[in-house]
Amino acid sequence: MALKTSYLANHVRTLKPSGIRRFFDATAGMTGVISLGVGEPDFVTPWNVREAAIQSLEDGYTSYTANAGIPALREEIANYMNDYFCVSYKPESEIIVTVGASEAIDIALRAILNPGEEVLVVEPCFVSYAPLVTMAGGVPVTVQASAENQFKIHPEQLERAVTDRTKAIMICSPNNPTGAMLSREEMLRIAAFAKAHDLLILSDEIYAELVYDDIYTSFAALEGMRERTILVSGFSKDLAMTGWRLGFVCAPEEITQGMLKIHQYAIMCASTMAQHAGLEGLKNGRKDVNEMRKSYRQRRNYIVESLNEMGLSCHRPEGAFYTFPSIRSTGLSSEDFAHRLLENEKVVVVPGNAFGESGEGYVRCSYATSMAQLQEAMTRMRRFIAQL
Ligand code: PMP
Repeated sequence: MALKTSYLANHVRTLKPSGIRRFFDATAGMTGVISLGVGEPDFVTPWNVREAAIQSLEDGYTSYTANAGIPALREEIANYMNDYFCVSYKPESEIIVTVGASEAIDIALRAILNPGEEVLVVEPCFVSYAPLVTMAGGVPVTVQASAENQFKIHPEQLERAVTDRTKAIMICSPNNPTGAMLSREEMLRIAAFAKAHDLLILSDEIYAELVYDDIYTSFAALEGMRERTILVSGFSKDLAMTGWRLGFVCAPEEITQGMLKIHQYAIMCASTMAQHAGLEGLKNGRKDVNEMRKSYRQRRNYIVESLNEMGLSCHRPEGAFYTFPSIRSTGLSSEDFAHRLLENEKVVVVPGNAFGESGEGYVRCSYATSMAQLQEAMTRMRRFIAQL
């Protein structure tokens, strides 16, 4: 029998590759490149955290763990959520340790969506949200947060997008790629919208510890919101653990147990040594997190000032480690800007349109790179702007 023209499922064939990846491929083989493109800390995981993983291997912890994660880690996550974010979850039934926040988002969407149900995806946002909704059989309905509102969504925009098929809204604050953080008042307005339409909030709180000027509020801590919040977080950003692939999700029991069924069949459990490392990170990692936060804050202040000085107007991000300057004054599209900057000056930034249509006219610059590299990148960008 003849081979089919494609064995791929339609929804996979039509899935577009990530705009970020596509852009990084262009740097392959180039030397002397400074990357402000990556979305991960430049720090190495703190030593005590690495040592805990080594110790776990020496102690022979090389088997599967409970599907939801080792009980001591879930207990520590519950304590951490309570102590830092004022929200309480039962470690035995409302927390799952996942393979990064990425898996948490995936299983959350797969657990809650019936075919054709809609999810409001606020853009600009992390590149995986809309594709994960599609892969879960849902329909992503993108809502564009505007630059005029510092890329914070207004409930009126959500009102225009909601239908009787809407099941949830995905929010990430502090945001990747804009660094914008919702104030408590802004969150309360979104919470009221969710309650009025009986929606879940899938709250990606992975940058909750990287907040520079304000106190962080979790969606789940707002009155009446714990029951409709799926809180996703992890260890990648604050503890510089991207390669360990460790995250977690907290949600009301019915939803958590639904997610656990998917996790148990698809994943079994997160890596055992990573879980031991994460436990140490939660118990004894605060000092390191504070140091890293201090360093990011310094770099944020430097890069924001430099970008504004060279005419790339840039809001001062309240959290995460990204700036999202406007490149409109150059007359270039964000793709052209990023490509020409790479060709002429070997600096990588990510075109804003990779994160949604309202990102056009902007580029994402990560400041999770050393001060020396940042300074060199700013010198090169200044030269690039001057010769346009
Ligand atoms: N959410 C956001 C907003 C992110 O920026 C990232 C990583 N870039 C993730 C989730 C995924 O994190 P993890 O490494 O925990 O899968």
